[in-house]
Order: sequence, then structure tokens, then C-alpha cells
Amino acid sequence: MFALLYFCLREQIEADSRKVENQFSFMAMAETCEKCGREVRGDFEVYSRDSAQGYEIVVDSTPDRNFNICDSCNIQVCFSCCRFPESGYCDDCIEKYQLEGYLRDVGLIRNGP
Ligand SMILES: [Zn+2]
Ligand SMILES: [Zn+2]
Repeated sequence: MFALLYFCLREQIEADSRKVENQFSFMAMAETCEKCGREVRGDFEVYSRDSAQGYEIVVDSTPDRNFNICDSCNIQVCFSCCRFPESGYCDDCIEKYQLEGYLRDVGLIRNGP
């Protein structure tokens, strides 16, 4: 099942950039939260478009998505297992690299503690 999904994704984006292909190889791997083991909903979508800056690849998520893939360690975690789901990082990485202050500065964390 995973292999099939991976193959489809590969085929779909083969004409696009290698970078996106590398990202999607892990996005398609598991459909459960790696912390609590619950199933996650939603998906990422990738498409290309012509913009004023030229051809670009857009990675978007479906509205029902309830998980993140950590920008740092690539772990797949559901929002309930993240203190700051909007940041795109898992709790472990935020703690490990002490990202909280930085993420607040750049506006990726908006809620107070
Ligand atoms: Zn979870
Ligand atoms: Zn992480």
C-alpha cells in the first residue's frame, strides 16, 4: 500500500523538481502519528503554477489535515501531540534546538504559553 502510494506520487511529480520528490518520499510513508499511533487525516498536495517569479512548485495541505511532518527531523505527528502545531516542528526539536523564542519572533507561534 505504501509502496503503491509512493509510486503514484513519484509518477505524478516526476516531471517536477527532485527536491519535492525527496520530500514526498517520506510524506507517503506512514499514515499514523509516530508518537501516539493514532491515524492521521488529510494530506499534502503538490502542484506547479506559473507566477510572476516564474515556474514554481507549491506544496499545500488539505483543509482536514491534522498532522505535521516536522521540518527538522521529519517525524509525522498529529496536532494533539504538538504543543505548537502551527510552527511545523515537533516538540522534541523545539526543545532540542531551543526554537521556541525564534518561532515566536518570526510569528510561527502566536499563542502564549
Ligand atoms: Zn499523536
Ligand atoms: Zn522534529
